[in-house]
Amino acid sequence: MTVQVHRMILIPSKVGDLVVKGLIFDMDGTLTKPQSYMFKEMREALDIVDKPIDILTQLESLPRIQREIAAKRIQDIEHRAMLKMQPQKGVEDLFKFLHEETDLKFTICTRNLITPVNYLLDHFLDGIKLHEPIITRSFDPPKPSPKPLLHISESWGIKPENLIMIGDSRDDMFAGLRAGCSLVLMRHKDNGHLVEEIPEIDYIVDDFHQLIDILQNGFEVKPKVARKMTGFSGY
Ligand SMILES: [Mg+2]
Repeated sequence: MTVQVHRMILIPSKVGDLVVKGLIFDMDGTLTKPQSYMFKEMREALDIVDKPIDILTQLESLPRIQREIAAKRIQDIEHRAMLKMQPQKGVEDLFKFLHEETDLKFTICTRNLITPVNYLLDHFLDGIKLHEPIITRSFDPPKPSPKPLLHISESWGIKPENLIMIGDSRDDMFAGLRAGCSLVLMRHKDNGHLVEEIPEIDYIVDDFHQLIDILQNGFEVKPKVARKMTGFSGY
């Protein structure tokens, strides 16, 4: 069986080209440099180190009082990480390009809270406005469910096949796969194994200058068939 491959590109020029109309970015480890210690600290706070349990699922499963205490601990970890946040290489150039040279819609879909999103926008992406909706932890269910991505797709009136999910974790790639988006992995020292684990990933970038390049010059996308997530939440 031959796998049918399409080219995805900003300005189509060949028969069969898929037009890019929107971009959905994960935040932590994608738009920012990875702070993997943050997830380790969260797992320690919830007593689920090395357990195949999702951090947010574990948090939700706790009785109210314990949940509030744990949620505060998680929030403190995220706040400390936020103050050390560094932008990913090329992120300023990417958003300048998107804003000034394209009509693309773009937003953030994160499992984090809105405060770090605003911190990123205020400190590193001066003057850039994302296109609503911005998806944060208040959206239920979170990635790896496809629902947050489908919500963005519906809000924008853009089919998932014309959208790219750009992320660094298994949650991002499976949410995108299940929604039917194209998948771009932001590779870093902690997530290289996802390349083999998720062969549906269409393209791998190490910085955002490469994303600008593939938007302009096109990249091949594979057909997407939703499947059950392998492994557990995170990398
Ligand atoms: Mg991430």
